[in-house]
Amino acid sequence: MNVENLSMRRDIVFRFGDKDDGVIGIPCITHDGHVIEASYFYGKEKKKNIIVISSQINCPMKCTFCELGSERFIRSLTSQEMIDQVTLILEEAKKEGFTLENYPHKITIANTGEPLLNNIITESVYNLAQNYETSFKISTILPDIPLLKERITRLAEFANGYDKSFQLQISLISTSEEERQKIAGAKVANFKKIREVAELWRSRNPIGRKVNLSLIITSVMDCDPKKIAKIFPPELFRFRFREYVPTKNGRDNGLSVVSANKLIEVKSRFANGGYEVTHFASPTATERKFGLASNAIRRIYLNTINK
Ligand code: SF4
Repeated sequence: MNVENLSMRRDIVFRFGDKDDGVIGIPCITHDGHVIEASYFYGKEKKKNIIVISSQINCPMKCTFCELGSERFIRSLTSQEMIDQVTLILEEAKKEGFTLENYPHKITIANTGEPLLNNIITESVYNLAQNYETSFKISTILPDIPLLKERITRLAEFANGYDKSFQLQISLISTSEEERQKIAGAKVANFKKIREVAELWRSRNPIGRKVNLSLIITSVMDCDPKKIAKIFPPELFRFRFREYVPTKNGRDNGLSVVSANKLIEVKSRFANGGYEVTHFASPTATERKFGLASNAIRRIYLNTINK
């Protein structure tokens, strides 16, 4: 594939860390001159190398912890624009010795934008899977939209027929429903609706993986398994914890980093509550050192060119 003929281009590639804990970041420039982020995470702690792509130009949600801050939403990306991000990233990964053939990969749709607000997200996942035989993950804050269940149904049906792992990850943010809604900029699904979505996911994709609920651990965020034990049973959900990596927007909204001991304590409370707890979500030393929260690489680029 000649990367000069793609629907988006790059004029710089950022490389952080080393072969044991590395990140590649590409600010991708769309044909209409906007910048979104595609990134690549690899290292000895990773079971799969992770290609993270964007689904929109900026985001209608405007969450308070997000690096995108209150930047104006522009538009959703096309399927081709999502595919081309993977092509650009894989070209750079190859220079580090990684190809789809020689190493397991996962494509995560998570960077710039909210995937479920992209009207062609299901078609885009089909198209991505036809081009790249990898595992997939969709990371969503679960916006409260009329088409939510229809979109989840179609994704679950795709996941059910796909021969590799396909994860649905919901950014729960907090175990307090009020706090979750306050931190998300626009209306998000309430806890009852999240439970209904997980039941739908299970019914259409019965042998697939449980829905991941992702909690951002900051020094103030509510993280109490007792509050959600009834509505989010361990048979339907597992928990993923990610320590907050500071963003300008998060700092402006009073969020701060948590201690290592607090994280251990939170994880063991959930494990004691019967939940499967994943341990692979913590930012690596390289991500911490360079503050590589989602969309931070895009921000570094925009600052560099004074935009
Ligand atoms: S965290 Fe995700 S959903 Fe929230 S504003 Fe940022 S990109 Fe959008």
